[in-house]
Amino acid sequence: MTTGRTLTKSKALIEAGLVPPERLRELERVAARYAVSLTPEVADLIDPADPDDPIARQFVPDRRELDALSGELADPIGDDAHSPVEGIVHRYPDRVLLKLVHVCPVYCRFCFRREMVGPGRRPALSRAALDAALGYVRAHPEIWEVILTGGDPLILSPRRLGALLRALRAIEHVKVVRVHSRIPALDPGRITPDLVRALKASGKATYMVLHANHPRELTARARAACARIIDAGIPMLSQTVLIRGVNDSAATLAALMRALVECRIKPYYLHHGDLAPGTAHLRTTIEEGQALMRALHGHNSGLCQPTYVVDIPGGHGKSPIGPNYLHRGTDLHRGVEIEDYRGCRHPYPPPA
Ligand code: SF4
Repeated sequence: MTTGRTLTKSKALIEAGLVPPERLRELERVAARYAVSLTPEVADLIDPADPDDPIARQFVPDRRELDALSGELADPIGDDAHSPVEGIVHRYPDRVLLKLVHVCPVYCRFCFRREMVGPGRRPALSRAALDAALGYVRAHPEIWEVILTGGDPLILSPRRLGALLRALRAIEHVKVVRVHSRIPALDPGRITPDLVRALKASGKATYMVLHANHPRELTARARAACARIIDAGIPMLSQTVLIRGVNDSAATLAALMRALVECRIKPYYLHHGDLAPGTAHLRTTIEEGQALMRALHGHNSGLCQPTYVVDIPGGHGKSPIGPNYLHRGTDLHRGVEIEDYRGCRHPYPPPA
């Protein structure tokens, strides 16, 4: 069924047949706390007959979102602790995030910035704030890469994105512009030739990182949108959030990674779920994530291997979290042992 319009109201989700009417009150309570939006592409992907539909699980509100646990944090990856000026997060030496907007075409139930994004939350950068953010980048020659994020930066018009890319082009020490977005898959009609042109800054490398969590998100329209980006000379990478009930099976993850590679998108990160409020029902354990990575390794092409990472709460940055294939040697063999993808250990170097 095609809804044809973006669904932001609880009643609209029910009228579209995506949620049974008896859940109206639950939906309204959650929607009063966290933003809701499903593009037509997302709504079309949901199978309303499946109570465990992996697309619905990512976008349809759930009453458990109101159960924040102790240990969950409003700013789980610590953006604000590293924000020297509005819109900039300078966590690592050679790169900054530039957060232009705090709105998205879809609102993910597991979002790590869910306390910041959505209508009525943090505003978009004003002209003056954007000038100050660019001034910060200009004043820090160690900044090699600028990462556009938000919210979803591709919600901006080609005109505004083009103006920003031109401003970045003028900063000599910035060599790479990276854009993080869900739009190529979940709102692909926005990937127009004008928008693709706007993302190119001559003299700089532009990379696009697609956020995709389930192979069904890579529809024919999504694949075509990604092809428009890549054919224009913008390489694409992907990031995936590991979500219980969405992609926490080896078969689903492998299918997603293969689909991405078939679209010429290199899997980059598999994120362990962040400690965002009300998202415990969507998080796996780290041990489960490591077991999934083991299932991917060796059984799927090296092109299909993302790095499994967690953002350390408090703003300490991302670290890879395994699994580990290097083991201390036995008493007999004092070197190390390396585990192969079948789980067998081999001394390294091999005994003479
Ligand atoms: S698109 Fe990104 S920023 Fe927006 S709700 Fe989803 S995860 Fe959060």
